[in-house]
Amino acid sequence: MKNFKLIKNKNFGELPKTSGVYSFYGKNELLYIGKAINIQNRVKNHFNQPSYRDDLFIDKVDKIGFFETGSEIEALVFEANLIKKYQPKFNVVWRDDKNYFYVAISQNEQKIPYIFITHQKNYEKTKYVGPFVEGTALKKTLRFLRRAFPYYTVKKHPKTKCTYCHLSLCPGPDPDKNLYKKNINNLVAILEGKKQKVLRDLKKDMKKYSQNRDFENAAKARDQILSLEKIISHAHIFEANKTQQAWPKTEGFLQTIMGVNKKISRIEGYDISNIQGNQAVASMVVFIDGTADKNQYRKFKIKTIEGPNDTAMIKEALSRRITHNEWPMPDLIFIDGGKGQLNAALAIIHPHTKRGDGAGKKINRSESRSGVGVKEIPVCALAKKNNELFIKGNKDPVLLKTLPREIFNLILQIRDESHRFAITYHKKLRKKHLLTE
Ligand SMILES: [Zn+2]
Repeated sequence: MKNFKLIKNKNFGELPKTSGVYSFYGKNELLYIGKAINIQNRVKNHFNQPSYRDDLFIDKVDKIGFFETGSEIEALVFEANLIKKYQPKFNVVWRDDKNYFYVAISQNEQKIPYIFITHQKNYEKTKYVGPFVEGTALKKTLRFLRRAFPYYTVKKHPKTKCTYCHLSLCPGPDPDKNLYKKNINNLVAILEGKKQKVLRDLKKDMKKYSQNRDFENAAKARDQILSLEKIISHAHIFEANKTQQAWPKTEGFLQTIMGVNKKISRIEGYDISNIQGNQAVASMVVFIDGTADKNQYRKFKIKTIEGPNDTAMIKEALSRRITHNEWPMPDLIFIDGGKGQLNAALAIIHPHTKRGDGAGKKINRSESRSGVGVKEIPVCALAKKNNELFIKGNKDPVLLKTLPREIFNLILQIRDESHRFAITYHKKLRKKHLLTE
């Protein structure tokens, strides 16, 4: 495992502007480990734009450690392995299995391995690598690695070639078992940070094959080496973070528009889909720092409402959502709809604010600071007609087109995504319903 180089806190200029892993130390303890495309910028960001989690430890930072990885995939892999090895206090404090990702390697009855990503480690006879912090980056990494090491993602492969077979990402219906297992072992080793060993082994294989005049397999090994080297050095897997880099500015606009001065990171968008009240569903989409995180999307089958009644359905979905303490609470709630939908949401999220007689429960400041109080969450709704944005506390709606471009784009994106997600689920239920009729 690599060693961190240490610098004094605030000597940010000594940090490289390349990809790698960094760590924060207090006087006597390791506080936190993270990865970055640009170590210097990312570390500065923790101090200049502290998140809820940063607030818990940023004042205690005494020294900063770092090492360069030369590639983003390696940063992702080392981050996961170092967190696992050292269990830094504030990676662990924040740890909630729902937010972490493991690569699971399981086996079917024929002892053929297959690979999938999961939040939980509760499958039998399964090996887990991780936890990894960022789902999107992990998925992209696996997608790239699958080119070098084709693998199954399902327990039972069909007898004929699947779509992934045709893309050379899948070893085919009847792979050479030993070769396939070797590939899986190599893939796992890469995820465990043993890139050098994998390359060394592949080179040895290549040599052995060509000595035996098995040129076909020698060429295969050579292609694997080349593709692996290319994947690891060139894959820009954190590229989605461009939005995240621009996030502080967008967040500032949002805070102004919503009239709040607390951190906004997690936004949840809701939409309802039904036909005359039938097969009614609600969608919940999640955006973190402006980027959709599909792993955190949830859907609700409406259970208690009969007939078409959008506002009652929103109430049902939100009441059920806020009982899920195991999901991180949102910093902003977005509803597809107009004033009626906004009020329906407010009736659940801010049940005491409308009375105006002071009877409402007092807001617990410390509770909201750690992100668990729901009563301080700002809520807004976008009506289709004229794209009017209704915001809690404002009498009149704001026209979306008058808002900064960043906000305009973000809100439309959340709206479209919640709409798409709800309608997909609704159609699925409708189809199932028709089939069982
Ligand atoms: Zn296949």
